[in-house]
Amino acid sequence: MSFKSLGLSEPILKAIQKKGYETPSPIQAKAIPPVLEGKDVLASAQTGTGKTAGFTLPMLHYLSNNPHPKFRPIRALVLTPTRELAAQVFENVKEYSEFLDIKGAVIFGGVNQKPQVSKIKQGIDILVATPGRLLDLKNQGLLSLKHIEIFVLDEADRMLDMGFLRDIERVMKLMPNKRQNLMFSATFSKDIKKLAYSILNNPVQVEATPENTAVEIIEQKVYRVAKGKKTGLIIKLISEGNWQQVLVFTRTKHGANKLTKKMVSAGITAAAIHGNKSQGARTKALAGFKSGKIRVLVATDIAARGLDIPLLPHVINFELPNISEDYVHRIGRTGRAGAEGQAISLVSADETTYLAGIEKLIGEKIEMEIVDGFEPDPNASTEPIKPGQNRGRGGNRNSGSRNTGGNKNSNRNRSRNRSRNRNSN
Ligand code: ADP
Ligand code: MG
Repeated sequence: MSFKSLGLSEPILKAIQKKGYETPSPIQAKAIPPVLEGKDVLASAQTGTGKTAGFTLPMLHYLSNNPHPKFRPIRALVLTPTRELAAQVFENVKEYSEFLDIKGAVIFGGVNQKPQVSKIKQGIDILVATPGRLLDLKNQGLLSLKHIEIFVLDEADRMLDMGFLRDIERVMKLMPNKRQNLMFSATFSKDIKKLAYSILNNPVQVEATPENTAVEIIEQKVYRVAKGKKTGLIIKLISEGNWQQVLVFTRTKHGANKLTKKMVSAGITAAAIHGNKSQGARTKALAGFKSGKIRVLVATDIAARGLDIPLLPHVINFELPNISEDYVHRIGRTGRAGAEGQAISLVSADETTYLAGIEKLIGEKIEMEIVDGFEPDPNASTEPIKPGQNRGRGGNRNSGSRNTGGNKNSNRNRSRNRSRNRNSN
């Protein structure tokens, strides 16, 4: 299977060659033909499998072969959930269209709108956007979606997670009814199907599961640890293992900041990347991490989503995600392209339910270990902390009192813990 046999035009093949791709990835091989035929397509394949080119290449093929006869209106819209993803998709659009007469622009919030607006005014074929800034500029009368012929919803699952459903519906009303719709997603849930029904007409559905699913080639490990001892343990693991490029996930922005500060005080170069950081700060952190200047990048799920960081040897879940699928996305950051990687999770008692959910999803028990001096707190509640609840509460309040018995409730938790530990061994 070659890109040429998919029917893509010469200038596009040239750009692909320049980019260094030899063969289409499985999702590209499956998605590109129906997209070229003008069909609505729903495509799902896990993060890092090349979905961007899966819609960008055929989209460029169509737009360049069917130019607008009179002027240059926006004819293709790609919606993405985050600024990073928007920037990355646009970067790809630019690279793949190098040898075509196609113009594009990217818009997202958090930065001055002026340069974005002036770019649009010059006339563009493709607009890559996050929903907020798109609607904002539209409401100011600064852009029109009346000539859209191709609409792409990229990372659709994350769009839903981030609560963009209403915005998507608003955007849909601004486009002509007759258009091609494409939906790309890393996961394929009930909600995604529902969204697909409302957006797509008679869609062709394509899916690709990599030969070695992440979960199979990645060495996974769980450290059971008291909540309040997680920071000490992660610093010990990174220092003693002399790990140089580590991606750490926290559940909250606040948690990411706090952990980053502690790492830096412990002499480990670290930076946080999340939605509250300015675009400049995020770009700088990412560049520093890629170049090796920064050893540890601490990220929240949303900020990390879709970041183009190849081949990470170590991914650490400082906290488990409460959505099991996010665990698979997170650990998918290691062991890419067949290289081996290690995914470590620090799990406190209140995350027991999340761990069970993850093990059910991946269909295996993850190897469990306890490090001397960083034992789990036998008195801690195994009740999950609800999203939004203060995570600082509780902590290692009871640590050091593991043999003091405690009330009936904590005894029950303890035996529950113990039996789980045994199961995980
Ligand atoms: P996804 O959207 O599925 O998470 P991306 O489109 O961001 O994945 O692609 C992930 C990485 O794979 C990028 O670095 C991209 O340049 C690279 N890539 C995409 N297609 C190919 C290909 N056919 N051959 C080699 N590398 C590819
Ligand atoms: Mg993507």
